[in-house]
Amino acid sequence: MVGGGVAGLVAARDLAARGLRVTLVEAEDHLGGAVGAHQVAGLVLDSGAEAFATRSPAVPELLGELGLAERVVHPRRAGSWLYLPEGAVPAPDSGVLGIPADPTAPRLRAALGRAGLLRASLDRRMPAAVGASERSLGGLVRARMGQRVVERLVAPVTTGVHSAHPDELDVDAVAPGLRRALREHGSLGAAAGALRRAAPAGSAVAGLRGGMNTLSEALVRDLERAGAKLVTDHDVIALDRDPRRDGWMVIQRQPRHGAKTAVARGELLVLATDGATAVRLLGGHRDGLQRFGPEPGPQVALATLVVDDPRLDGAPRGTGLLVSADARAVRAKALTHATAKWDWVREAAGPGRHVLRLSYGRAQPDPSVVPPEVALPDQQLIRLALSDASTLMGVPLRPEQLAGADIVRWRAALPRAGVGHAQRVAAFRAELAHLPGTAAVGAWLAGTGLSSVVADTREQVRALLTAAGVPAAAATPTPSTPRKD
Ligand SMILES: Cc1cc2nc3c(=O)[nH]c(=O)nc-3n(C[C@H](O)[C@H](O)[C@H](O)COP(=O)(O)OP(=O)(O)OC[C@H]3O[C@@H](n4cnc5c(N)ncnc54)[C@H](O)[C@@H]3O)c2cc1C
Repeated sequence: MVGGGVAGLVAARDLAARGLRVTLVEAEDHLGGAVGAHQVAGLVLDSGAEAFATRSPAVPELLGELGLAERVVHPRRAGSWLYLPEGAVPAPDSGVLGIPADPTAPRLRAALGRAGLLRASLDRRMPAAVGASERSLGGLVRARMGQRVVERLVAPVTTGVHSAHPDELDVDAVAPGLRRALREHGSLGAAAGALRRAAPAGSAVAGLRGGMNTLSEALVRDLERAGAKLVTDHDVIALDRDPRRDGWMVIQRQPRHGAKTAVARGELLVLATDGATAVRLLGGHRDGLQRFGPEPGPQVALATLVVDDPRLDGAPRGTGLLVSADARAVRAKALTHATAKWDWVREAAGPGRHVLRLSYGRAQPDPSVVPPEVALPDQQLIRLALSDASTLMGVPLRPEQLAGADIVRWRAALPRAGVGHAQRVAAFRAELAHLPGTAAVGAWLAGTGLSSVVADTREQVRALLTAAGVPAAAATPTPSTPRKD
C-alpha cells in the first residue's frame, strides 16, 4: 500500500480484514491525508474535510463498522449565504451544487435579478431533452436555467467544493444521477430537488462529533489491531517488479533522516496517492499509463480563526458563505462558521467564542501557478482572513479579538473531475489491468469527497481480491514484510 490518506487507510483495512498481511507506506509523518486534525486556541478541529455527503451509504456503512455510528451529527439548519458583488444574500436552501429545486422562488431574486429569475423559470417549461447532451455541469445548467444561475448560484459552490468552474466539471462525476433525474422528472429544478430529497435525514451532509479526523484515527486504530505495518515519514520514490514472487518491490526513502532507502515487498500493490504520483510511479511499468496526466487542481489554504465576539452568536450568515469569483471585496472563496454549523464545536468553544474557517485558492488558468493568497506567508494570510471574515460576516473583527489562528496548506488535495472524467478513469483502469495484482484508488480517480472516495476504494479492493483469487473469508496471508536493504 502506498499512501495513507482515507483511500489508503480504507483499502488497507479491507485487505487486512481478508487475512492479508499489509504494509502501508505514507510520505508524511501522520496518517489520514486530507482528513486530519489541528489545534487552534486549545480546540482540536478538522484541518481538512469536516463533513461527508449523505447521498450514498458508503461513509455511514464504514462508520458503522468502526463503531462510530453514534458519533454521527448533522449540521444545524441555519441556512447558508452567498457573497455576490452586491453583498451577502441567502442561498437557495434546496437542490444540489447550488442548482435551485425551485427556480421560480422569489427569494432567488436577490441573487439572480428579475431577468435572471425569469430565465431560470423557463426550466419548468422546456422539454426534458434541452441540455440533456451537455457533458459539463455549467453547460447543462446554462442550457436549462441560464447564465446567471451558473455564475451566481452554482459557480460559488463548485469553486468552494471542487476548486473549479462548473464549465470545467463533468456533470456525471460531480452530480451522479442528475442527468437521469432530468429525464425522469422533466426539469433540472425537479431533478435537483429529487436528488436532494434522496439524501437521508433531509440533510445533504453529516459530520462526526469530534470532527472527521476521528475517522482517520479509528481507521488507524483498527489497522494497528489487525497487525498492519504502518510506515510514516517514508516517501515512495519507485516501484520495481519482484522477480522472486511475481509481485512488487516498493522503494522508499526517509527524506528527513539522511535519505536512506528501504524496500517493502508484496504480491498485491494498491496505490492511494495523488494522481501525478501514481502515474509517475506506475508509468515506467506500462507505457500506456504515462499519457494519463491527471489535472491536479489548485493549491489551497485553509485559514482557521478563533475569535471572541458575542455578536456572532446569532449566526448572521447561517452556517457560512460561498463567495462569487466576481465579488472583489474579499479574496476568500468560502467561509464556514463552524460554531454555528456544528453543536459540538460550539460546546467545545464556549460562550461568545467562534470558529471561522476561510478557504483560499481559486483555480488558476495555469494550474502550476500558486494562487496569490495561498502564496502569502502565514501571518499575512491570517490578517487577510480576519479582514475577509469581517466583510463576509458583516461584523468588524479586530486582531485583539483573535484567541488563535492557524493556516493549513494543501497541495494536490482537490483534484478536478474534468469533462470526460469517467471515460478517462475507465481507460486508465483498463491499462492498469495489464499489471496484475495492482489497483489505484483515491480522489483523483473517484472524484473529490469522502463519499466518492470510500465507495470507489472499497469496490476496487473487492475487484483486486477477486482477480487475485483471494477467498472471501479467512485467506492465505500475502507476504508484504518490509526488508531494510
Ligand atoms: C481543505 C479540504 C477540505 C475538504 N473538505 C471536505 C469535506 O468537508 N467533505 C468531503 O467529503 N471531502 C472534503 N475534502 C475532500 C476529501 O478530504 C478528499 O477527497 C479525500 O480525503 C481524499 O483522500 P485520498 O486518500 O484520496 O487523498 P489524500 O488524503 O490526499 O491522501 C493521499 C496520501 O498519499 C500520500 N502520498 C503522496 N505521495 C506519496 C508517496 N510518494 N509516498 C508515500 N505517500 C504518498 C500523501 O502524503 C497523502 O497522505 C476536503 C479536502 C480538503 C483539502
